[in-house]
Amino acid sequence: MIIIDGSEGEGGGQIVRNACALSLITGEPFKITNIRGKRAKPGLMRQHVTAIEAACVISDSECVGLGVGSTELEFRPGKILPGDYHFAVGTAGSTSLVLQTILIPLALADGPSRLVLEGGTHNMMAPPFDFIERSFLPIINRMGPRVSARIVRHGFYPRGGGRIEVEIEPGPLRRIECLERGELLGTSGQAVFTGLPFEIADRMLSRARKDLAAWPDDAFSVRELPADQGPGVILMLEERFANVTEVVRGFGKIGVKAERVAKKLGGRMNGYLEASAFAGPYLADQLILPFALARGGVFTTVKPSQHMLTAIEIARQFTGQSLLLEPLADGGHLLSAGQGR
Ligand code: AMP
Repeated sequence: MIIIDGSEGEGGGQIVRNACALSLITGEPFKITNIRGKRAKPGLMRQHVTAIEAACVISDSECVGLGVGSTELEFRPGKILPGDYHFAVGTAGSTSLVLQTILIPLALADGPSRLVLEGGTHNMMAPPFDFIERSFLPIINRMGPRVSARIVRHGFYPRGGGRIEVEIEPGPLRRIECLERGELLGTSGQAVFTGLPFEIADRMLSRARKDLAAWPDDAFSVRELPADQGPGVILMLEERFANVTEVVRGFGKIGVKAERVAKKLGGRMNGYLEASAFAGPYLADQLILPFALARGGVFTTVKPSQHMLTAIEIARQFTGQSLLLEPLADGGHLLSAGQGR
C-alpha cells in the first residue's frame, strides 16, 4: 500500500485526485493522511468527495474514510468499468476536477464511456471548461485516446447547475514530443456574462483590448448567456497555435474592478506569449499523469509550479517513473518522462 502525506508539496486536492487515478490504473491501493493539509480549510470538500465517489463507481473500488471534512482515507482499487455515468457535484463544485480524476482511467479502459457531469463549469482554482476542451484534451487525443467534450449549460459559483458531456474512446497513451508551439493561428478574447449589467463585461473587454494591442479588433467579443445560468461574468483569453492552445480566465467579483481582472489576465497572456515554452503552468501539471503513464515523451514548460512538482512526486510513487525537469537557456524547462522502472 502506498502511503501519502497529503500536506506535502502543494498540499491540495490534486494530490488526492491524481492518487485515485493512478491507483485505478496501476492497481496499487493507497492511504492518504492530512488531506488538503496546506489549504485554509483542510479536509475533503463536497467536490473532492464527488470526484472520489466517481472513481469508486467507475471501478467498484472500496474507500474508507470518505466524507466532507475527512482528512484521511484508504482507497482499494477495483477493475475499471467503462460505461455511461452521470455524476452531480451537488454544489457549484468543479466538474473539471471530477473529470480530472476519472478521465485517464476511462481513457485506458477496455471499452468506450460517456459521462454527464453536473456542477460548476467555471470555478476558481480549477480548469474552466474551455481549457479542458481546447488546451488539455487535444494533447490527450494526440497521445492516443479520442475524447470529446461539450458544454450544455454554464455553471458559476455559487449557483452551479452547469452540465458537461464527455465521450471517451479509449486507447493506449503514446509518447509524444511537445517542444514547439508552432505558428500562431488565432486569438480570442471573450467576456461571458449573465444576470449582471452588460457594462461590466464591456469594461473588462475594453481593458483587455488595451493590454493586447497586437490582437485584431475582431478577436474580441461579448457573449450573454441565458439568465438562469448566472449570475456570473468571466473573461477568457485564448491563443491558438498550431500545436497548443493556451486559455486563461478571470472572474468578475464583487469589490474587484472589472478593469483589474482584465489587466491581470492580459498580463498573464502576454507573459505566455513572451515565453516560448509549449505548456503554460496549468497544462504542465495536468500533463504529468498522462506522460508518466505513457512512460516517455517530452514537453517544454514555463516555470514549474508547486502543483507540477507535487504531481511528479505522486506519479513517481505509483509508476516508478522519475520525470526529469531541466532548465533551458531561454528560461523555460524541459520535462522528460520515461526514466525508471
Ligand atoms: P488543487 O488546487 O490541488 O485542487 O488543484 C487544482 C487543479 O486545477 C490543478 O490541476 C490546476 O492545474 C488546475 N487549475 C487551477 N486553475 C486553473 C486555470 N485557471 N486554468 C487551468 N487549470 C487550472
